[in-house]
Amino acid sequence: MKLALRLPTFDPRRVRRGVFLTCLAALCLGTQPLVLADGLPDLGDSAQGDIPPQLEKKVGESILNEIRLRDPQYLDDPEVAAYVDQLGQRLVAASADPGYGFTFFVMKDATINAFATFGGYVGVNSGLITSAQSESELAGVLAHEISHVTQHHLARGIAKEKQNSMVSMAAMALALLAASKNADVATAAIVGSQAASVQSQLAFSRDFEREADRVGFQTLEKAGLDVRGMGDFFQRLQQASRLYENNAPAYMRTHPLTIERISDMQNRAQKTPYKQVPDSQDFHLVRGKLRAQLGTPKEAVADLEHLLKERKFANEAGIRFGLAHAQLRARNFPAVEQEIQALRRLKVNSPMLENLAAEVRTAQGDSAGAAAVFKAALKNTPFAKALMYGYVDALLADRRPAEALAYLDAQMQLYSSDYKLWGLKAKVASALGRRLQQHQALAEHYALQGQLLPAIDQLQMAQRAGDGNFYELSVVDARLRQLRAQQEEEARQRR
Ligand SMILES: [Zn+2]
Repeated sequence: MKLALRLPTFDPRRVRRGVFLTCLAALCLGTQPLVLADGLPDLGDSAQGDIPPQLEKKVGESILNEIRLRDPQYLDDPEVAAYVDQLGQRLVAASADPGYGFTFFVMKDATINAFATFGGYVGVNSGLITSAQSESELAGVLAHEISHVTQHHLARGIAKEKQNSMVSMAAMALALLAASKNADVATAAIVGSQAASVQSQLAFSRDFEREADRVGFQTLEKAGLDVRGMGDFFQRLQQASRLYENNAPAYMRTHPLTIERISDMQNRAQKTPYKQVPDSQDFHLVRGKLRAQLGTPKEAVADLEHLLKERKFANEAGIRFGLAHAQLRARNFPAVEQEIQALRRLKVNSPMLENLAAEVRTAQGDSAGAAAVFKAALKNTPFAKALMYGYVDALLADRRPAEALAYLDAQMQLYSSDYKLWGLKAKVASALGRRLQQHQALAEHYALQGQLLPAIDQLQMAQRAGDGNFYELSVVDARLRQLRAQQEEEARQRR
């Protein structure tokens, strides 16, 4: 198989984030504590080396909130996120701990990497998705990451250095909690920890790697994917690193890869009966869409047109879908329409295609047309988040806020913890001139992302909005008391 890896080039921004994430991993593996954490409550008995699961979840959640808020490489794309989550959850269901509760997110980063943080939060770089040659290869890496979590490798890493562990863990939690209120505090904490963490590039020990391979293999098999995926992908990674000695893919730096590990994987695969596992259509569409974001719009169009012309592809629809997105970036609307028609002739049936058909109308200022496409598509796939968000935006652009509100309220019965829907609700309320509702919705939008102070500010503005009735104001008061109590509790924990 031809080697097709995008190897990392030096990019100071990437290095900075790399250090940040590595430092999160390194902190938990027992580097120097950043701050004294005496008086911290509810951290469990560190003598046992156990981390209370709630603290682990809280730390994982803070890490994701921090990345989402401050890292420009966080990929805010509900379609790519939904695909990775769907594949991830399929593997979780087949894992050693199906009830654990995982959250997957994607980074816009061409380096081939994936990382597990605390509490089942797993990040996947876009470079991993575009360089995997089959869905089973991508799933193989995800299954490996999931296994690091289900086998409690982060926690076991901490247990080795019991003295510092809980302090480090708490310090990180606090730095991240502080980050949502005061950017300088977090930066100082992260910079302070860098010296120690840069040296611990190897986040997991070789024993943990072997265990994650073995358990991940079982997960992959049970989920009905091709077990050859894992070994094939790691082998290509290793070949690539041999070619570029000092520039090994990030994945190999965080997950030390050895010949022994690869042959173990291949031996295991050989003992399993051969099974052809076709890739899902979504896998190819998502790859196409990610590929369309690389380089300038012109370069992306040229790259994808070349592949199409030379017929260098495993899946035509994926390439055409990528080309359509590249043409949308290039604002060549007739070319987008042409690719959409070609995709329909290829019998592509996906909410992603309908979303694109609506987006091309939006880009041309036809919000009524976009709203109609979204509405029709939502009849077939009512739970597609990208369509939901797009529909509300299109209704707003078409000056139909009352319709948008009715639709949103119905969705929020199902998705009350979706911060994006709360953000849209704030926009809709603003368009309707409802000030109390606008601030109230913004408060939830912030609170759901762990930003308590801005949330409290918004609720105070809601109190003063002057357009709420007695009932609405009591709801705001009650919520404000709740958030203040939560905020005081976090402040107390920081002290
Ligand atoms: Zn690993």
